[in-house]
Parts: sequence; structure tokens; C-alpha cells
Amino acid sequence: MPMRPGPVLVIQTAFLGDVVLTTPLLTRLAARHGPVDVVTTPAAAELISAHPAVRRGISYDKRGVDRGIGGFRRLTERLAAGRYSAAYLPHRSWRSAALALCAQIPERIGFDDSPAALLYTTRVPRARGGYESARLLPLAGPASARDPEAEVRVALTAADREAADRWLRERGIAAPFIAVAPGSIWGTKRWQGYVDLVGKLTQPVVVLGSEADAPLAGEVAAAAPGRAHSAAGALSLRESAALIERARLLVTNDSAPLHLASGVGTPVVAVFGPTTPAQGFGPLQGRGVVVQESGLWCRPCSPHGPQQCPFGHHACMRQIGVERVLDAINALPGARN
Ligand code: SF4
Repeated sequence: MPMRPGPVLVIQTAFLGDVVLTTPLLTRLAARHGPVDVVTTPAAAELISAHPAVRRGISYDKRGVDRGIGGFRRLTERLAAGRYSAAYLPHRSWRSAALALCAQIPERIGFDDSPAALLYTTRVPRARGGYESARLLPLAGPASARDPEAEVRVALTAADREAADRWLRERGIAAPFIAVAPGSIWGTKRWQGYVDLVGKLTQPVVVLGSEADAPLAGEVAAAAPGRAHSAAGALSLRESAALIERARLLVTNDSAPLHLASGVGTPVVAVFGPTTPAQGFGPLQGRGVVVQESGLWCRPCSPHGPQQCPFGHHACMRQIGVERVLDAINALPGARN
């Protein structure tokens, strides 16, 4: 238990999908301490700010405006002023631990396998296997019987849903439609079959992604003029999640949209290449189908997936044909193309 009264802080500056999978931990901490503050990336701060377990998302642009010692110092001063009783550290980085220490937060709770564990006051054993959301929960103390996968949640506002509905209305897109998210910041995680897939689908399609994904999304949408539309870069993250919520299903790589779909309860067809669901970041149980080259000896080749295949062949993705993804779509209940 915290040494002094005061609000609780979570520092989670990992990738967007990791932040979505941290929401069950936030819910557990909020149940015990009240809504928590979360230091996270600018994109994730906007995403989680509507979550009922979150009092405030604190943006830390560690690779942008807050990079370097100046940004670090500004944030530690702000955190020190918050008089937090405890900092929970699901992200096992030196920077997260140093932020909590320099902000003079008396309780710092993290995993015992972190390289920065010596800066923690409480070190919690980390499970090797299992789903990421469940692996994070021991930070909050003894786990309850509730299912952590069921608590993965992206909270949306009425304005988010209205913006998504308006975007659909303006393009004459009626449900049921299929959402596809062809991008990934990791090159080897991008399946190359989306153009073919969209050409073969018969339902309306919405192509999702960030502004950086817009050229790829435009190329994919061009496979079915009038039936497929790109929303890449046109909507905020929560509005994009609201679009996914409206979709019959999402076809995606192992990337952030997979977890956004988990957070809004939309089934997914997830194409995995250099990573595997066994690493803890697959679709939620019973809410998705995974397409992957299970027998390939070199999988998984890294925790995130490299930018380029170290062997040059990229067989983990190239061997996945469009028919397998169509079969996976048809295998989802109620999602027949
Ligand atoms: S090494 Fe194997 S798993 Fe990694 S990118 Fe290449 S084909 Fe895929």
C-alpha cells in the first residue's frame, strides 16, 4: 500500500497497443485508489482520456517536443507537484523508473525482470507466458477472479461516435462494412495482400490508418472504387476506434488497430508474420481468428518484428495467400463475405 496519501500514477510510454492492453491494470488500480493519472505518449494520452479509470492522461512526447534532458526535467517537476503516493511501472524502461524516482514518488512498483528494477521499491515477479493484460495485473496486487481480457477497453464519447457516423454517412457507407488496417510501423508486420483482398470482398470496406499510412491506405482503397474508402489520417484515434466499433469485423496485422478492435468489442482477422500470438498480443479469446505460417522455423524472429526480414525472403507474410484470409473472414460467426 502507498506510504502517503495521494493520487496514483501509471507510467506507460510503450506503443499504442501496449497502452490499450494496460487498461485492465488501470481499472484494477482505479477500483482501489480512484481514477489514476497516466504518463503516456501524446497519441495514447488522447486515446485513454475518456476511460473511466483515468483521471488525466499526461502527454510525454519523448521523441518529439519533450525529448532530451529538458523535457525529462519539465515532466519530473510536474509529477513532483502532483504529490503522487505511488507510481506503477508496466513499461520496464530506465526512463520510466527514473521519472518516478526524480519526481520523488515514494512507492515505485515494477517487474523484477526490468533492467531498472533496482530503482523500484517493490519488485513483482513477471509471468513468462499468458496474455499481456493478465501479465500486467500482478502490479496491482493479488489478482481477482475477473477476466482481464474482458476488461480491455477503449472508452469512447458520444462525440467520437457521432464523428465516425458522420464520416460514414457522408460517403454513403451503410453497415455492414468491413474495416481493414494494412499498416504497421514495423515493415515485416505488413501483409502484402490487402489490395487483392479488398478487390475480392463484396461488402463495403473502410481502410484505416494514421496519416503516415495514407498512401498505402489509398492504394488499398483504390482496389474497389466506390465500394472501398480510406479514412487514414482523416479521424482522431478515438474516432477511428468508433469506426472499428461500427464495423462487422476488422482485418489487420499484428498492430495497434488489433487492440483498438479488442477494446471496442469488434471481432478481428489478424495476420501474423514475424511475431506470434503466443508472445501475448493476439486477439482476445473467442473474438478473433489468426492467420499465420505456423510451421515456419524462423518465427518469431523478434519481439516486435524487424523492419526488414534478416533472411530477405519474408516468407512469414509472403506465403499467406488472400484465400486464407477470406476463409478466416468467413469463419467468423455472422461475418460471411
Ligand atoms: S526471419 Fe522469418 S519470421 Fe522474421 S521476417 Fe523473416 S520470414 Fe518473417
